[in-house]
Amino acid sequence: MVKAYIISTGTELLLGSTLDTNSVFLSRRLNDLEIRVVGKSIVGDNQEMLARAFQLAMASADLIISTGGLGPTLDDLTKTVLCDTLGCKLEQRPEEVERLRSFFSERQREMPDSNLKQAMFPEGARVLPNQRGTAPGMYLKREGKVFVLLPGPPHEMEAMFEDVIPLLKQEYQGLLKKSLSKTIRVFGPGESKIEAMLKPILQNQTGVSMALLAQEGEVCIRVSSQQEKPEESQVVLDEAVAALSARLGDYIYGYDDDTLVHVVSKLLKEKRKTVALAESCTGGLLSKLMTDLPGSSAFFWGGICCYSNQAKVKLLGVSADTLEQFGAVSKETAQEMARGIRLRAGTDYGIGITGLAGPDGGSPAKPVGRVYISLAGEKDCFVKPMHFVGSRDAIRMLAAKTALDLLRRELLKDNKGDE
Ligand code: ATP
Ligand code: MG
Repeated sequence: MVKAYIISTGTELLLGSTLDTNSVFLSRRLNDLEIRVVGKSIVGDNQEMLARAFQLAMASADLIISTGGLGPTLDDLTKTVLCDTLGCKLEQRPEEVERLRSFFSERQREMPDSNLKQAMFPEGARVLPNQRGTAPGMYLKREGKVFVLLPGPPHEMEAMFEDVIPLLKQEYQGLLKKSLSKTIRVFGPGESKIEAMLKPILQNQTGVSMALLAQEGEVCIRVSSQQEKPEESQVVLDEAVAALSARLGDYIYGYDDDTLVHVVSKLLKEKRKTVALAESCTGGLLSKLMTDLPGSSAFFWGGICCYSNQAKVKLLGVSADTLEQFGAVSKETAQEMARGIRLRAGTDYGIGITGLAGPDGGSPAKPVGRVYISLAGEKDCFVKPMHFVGSRDAIRMLAAKTALDLLRRELLKDNKGDE
């Protein structure tokens, strides 16, 4: 197993003014390559701290990747510090001097002497061209370790890392074990419940691992299998995914790159059904999600953002009595919203969402996070009372996704009826 260590440099990363997205990107890409990231450091533009980070990285990993500090200014130290750490010298590369000169002359600018720094590289280093900026990166093998230095601006770094991948594949030929994986996507139950449901299934299987990732009410279960031969990995993976899927049943809405909206849209299209929305607390968020996919006009009639009581009465025909008696956030109102929009739009389904997204306005009887989601179909109209926890944005997103999931389940029920 090849081990990697990532160093992100830049004082702005320590001040909290810039988020270290570079190391997140690199971690993902390295993991995709089956290279294990064993640690990361974030250091400022400080010689001593950077040197310590390199020492720790060299003691921990085979591959050390750093980002930032390759620019022309005094605070750009990465190459010098690495050379000091390794005890090697920087040499000027004439072709790099030439490249810099033409970069500046094309722009009719004088090249400051400080830029010559960018043409200095340690002996034996391979220069990694930067098509989007002036700071080239480098690839160096020394003392059995590989050092990859990349510039800080994410769009430059990300593009350049693509050129590093073939070099790494060549360097670690045979060592990068090919594992296969599949992601099961679930909506509804929390991470710990899922883990408890699934763990016993994997306990007796060797060569299969599972990683859970929870976000916005969804849980992604990444199942990986790593056997000696790829064919064996596939068989073992398929078996494990089938066993886990059987246990999870209709909590699963999709696999791999599926999204809830994707899956619901596909079902609506397949079944030639249409839907219209009446959104209060989600303020049109579900309409936005539905229309993120091109071609949604085939099944999506549209939505009404009926935030005030007046809008609910005027546009949807919710009765003033209902609003008075039960309140805008109630089972009854949600149902009248769903029925009202379905009738007015003439669609197969109508969805009504009303709730308290907070942060203010809650009461003991109706706390923040209480959301009623109603789905009206041809035969019946049911309502799901929910209680979400989180920020205003989180509550709204959970409400929109729960509505999608209700519709998904309803469309699948139709399936069973057809058979
Ligand atoms: P330059 O020639 O642009 O100065 P550089 O390699 O010296 O290249 P830095 O000066 O360290 O790069 O960073 C340039 C910019 O890139 C920073 O201002 C910051 O916005 C962004 N950046 C740097 N490091 C990171 C990081 N780890 N994650 C996200 N953005 C970063
Ligand atoms: Mg810089």
